[in-house]
Amino acid sequence: MSGIFGVVSEKNCAETLVYGTDYNTHMGTEYGGIAVYDDEFKRYIHRMSSVNFKMRFFENIKDINGKHGIGVVSDLDEQPIYLKSKLGEFCIVSAGRIDNINVLAKEMMEEGICFGEVSKKSVNATELIARIIATGSDIKDGIEKMYKRVKGSASILLLSKDGIYAARDSFGRNTLILGRKEGSWAVCSETASFHNLDFEPIRDLNPGEIVFIDCANLECKVLNQGNDKKQICSFLWIYTGFPASNYEGINAEIVREESGKLLAKRDKDLKADLVVGVPDSGFAHAIGYAIESKIPLRRPLVKYTPTYGRSYTPPSQSIRNVTARMKLIAIKEIIQNNIIVLLEDSIVRGTQLKNVTVEKFWRAGAKELHVRPACPPLLFPCIYSTSTRTNSELVTRRAIAAIEGKDIEDVSEYTNPDSEKYAKMVEWIRKDLNVTSLKFQNIEDMVKAIGLPKEKLCLHCWLGCSNCHAKGE
Ligand code: SF4
Repeated sequence: MSGIFGVVSEKNCAETLVYGTDYNTHMGTEYGGIAVYDDEFKRYIHRMSSVNFKMRFFENIKDINGKHGIGVVSDLDEQPIYLKSKLGEFCIVSAGRIDNINVLAKEMMEEGICFGEVSKKSVNATELIARIIATGSDIKDGIEKMYKRVKGSASILLLSKDGIYAARDSFGRNTLILGRKEGSWAVCSETASFHNLDFEPIRDLNPGEIVFIDCANLECKVLNQGNDKKQICSFLWIYTGFPASNYEGINAEIVREESGKLLAKRDKDLKADLVVGVPDSGFAHAIGYAIESKIPLRRPLVKYTPTYGRSYTPPSQSIRNVTARMKLIAIKEIIQNNIIVLLEDSIVRGTQLKNVTVEKFWRAGAKELHVRPACPPLLFPCIYSTSTRTNSELVTRRAIAAIEGKDIEDVSEYTNPDSEKYAKMVEWIRKDLNVTSLKFQNIEDMVKAIGLPKEKLCLHCWLGCSNCHAKGE
């Protein structure tokens, strides 16, 4: 995943750019980067794995005196990319995932295009996007060409001498939102970037829309209106987005509370002593559950944050597991002899839930443990961002392989919560997690909590491509 932020201002934009980009830190852990135009293009890229964004970039602020700039926090690529092309010089940041990156890179190399950056054994996706754009007759034409060639999703901010181009991916899976305040425009992935910088959200760009924010007259011009084939990532509201952010004007925290309430409505017969959210992302779902069920919300698991910062990413899975285990501390006095409902945003691999959270509850003397994930079972890896990468990582696929005796391609029966196979899969996961009961959110209630029509949402994680506009793209 990545989060991007851009600003065009009548004053020096350095501080706004650094703070605004910093509010995207939850969207990526590997690289942070900013680029500014200040009579020349200035670009700064830092690794984020051991230090937080602000600390790294504050030392660069004093070198910057530009009025427009772009920034990114990324999981995959070193960005921004700088290119000197027939269209002039530009810098670019991107968010999304290009599914056909290797095919495109091969085609482009056959056309004589070279790549200078690498990214985890592949070409750098942002460089590939930049080089396609550079083949256009102008920037707008180049972005449109890029949309035609790229399968997957790619939202971009492109910094030219004259301003910033902002373009949302063709199906609107990633967000891109315009904000305004006196003397400045901003554009961001996360509206949480706006609040403390006094920007008012104006609107979300349409899928495929391209705008240009001109720094000469601070005007935002629509260059391509885009389309209405919206398939925005549902996971933003359920887990990946920041609670204070709105997407399509719908706040993530409110959706999570609503989702918790809907889970509680289907749990009328469960008599429990307390409701708990797995910190931090299960917390809002737990608030909703507690409001609806009138069971007290308590905090028997606390995070020890002083030495385990949000942006610290341990280098290996085994160290990540130890870190997760050490960071969470259970309060025995709240847990002992109690029947507990545990709200989790989602279950991907299930390993940390099983080995860290559940284990801590049993060791502290919980009487019963009822787990309620706030989305349906994740059956398909995301092909539009980097959230989950392979079938074998998903606990559902391990359950299905155990039930079927082998890996199977067609898992459609397991997407139906009324089917026998679905019940078997959930029971397998329940036993594997070692919990008293397990009940997943259903797709209808998840969609209801978000509040957009089902066809406007990407539900690929749960249904595969059955509801994708992009099917066969
Ligand atoms: S596949 Fe899942 S994570 Fe990826 S964009 Fe769709 S809903 Fe979001």
